[in-house]
Amino acid sequence: MNDYIAPDHLLSGKTILITGAGDGIGRQAAISYATHGATCILLGKTVSKLEAVYDEIVAAGYPEPAIIPLDLNGATPKHYQDMANTISDQFGVLDGILFNAGKLGHLSPFAQIPVDEWQQVMQVNLNSAMYMLQPLLPLLLKAEAASVIFTSSSVGRKGRAFWGTYSVSKFATEGLMQVLADEYKNKPLRFNCINPGATRTAMRAKAFPAEDAETLKTPADIMPLYLYLMGSDSQEVNGQSLDCQPK
Ligand code: NDP
Repeated sequence: MNDYIAPDHLLSGKTILITGAGDGIGRQAAISYATHGATCILLGKTVSKLEAVYDEIVAAGYPEPAIIPLDLNGATPKHYQDMANTISDQFGVLDGILFNAGKLGHLSPFAQIPVDEWQQVMQVNLNSAMYMLQPLLPLLLKAEAASVIFTSSSVGRKGRAFWGTYSVSKFATEGLMQVLADEYKNKPLRFNCINPGATRTAMRAKAFPAEDAETLKTPADIMPLYLYLMGSDSQEVNGQSLDCQPK
């Protein structure tokens, strides 16, 4: 599905929440979803980045997005309940979520992983999705056929030395997706994982500082799978882990 060509109006009338929408892959996904007609809810930590994405979408004439500034590391279940209430009041329904926000942490030997960093990476990459989904499920179930996409990684399928916390958080994300996909298989709600593969972003540069970024795919290059999984052409796809850049 990496050569998928999305119809112009694939997401018209849909409301889609994107976490980590201010930068990297999430920023591009928000713009691509808006380009295809979606009203995007842009969630992220840095307000100025979210505002820049908002401005770009509005200037292009796509549906006006909403902004939710939230630090996933510090957010409590009450923040998520309040957020769900706001989305419910404003939109009444949610057609999709792209769980994209992620924290790499530091690559280090397992024996030297600081406990507080372990907790922060788990909080941002895994726990926040659980806390966010619980109050948002009723809104997703109001949609005709909602799609939830989690973001995994190749180290979420095969462990790699020194990638400790991040790798474990992505394995757990794959597990969460599979549990939900099975639990909701008879409902109009599907759950899948995307592994973007090596992509030219700040996170990739942090993980591989010596790499020539020009050799990497850009976030725009990998959007076909993000569009396919969010739109109705993937309605029968549930519980899958898909790669933007299969080896
Ligand atoms: P970036 O670092 O470029 O972007 C990460 C996004 O997550 C930013 O918008 C950032 O917001 C947001 N974010 C981070 N921490 C928090 C937080 N505490 N609260 C709210 N938002 C937060 O990363 P990528 O675009 O590269 O990564 C996107 C996803 O893809 C991640 O889940 C990553 O693990 C995964 N991935 C990426 C690969 C790659 O090669 N790039 C490969 C495999 C997987 P802000 O900028 O405001 O901090």
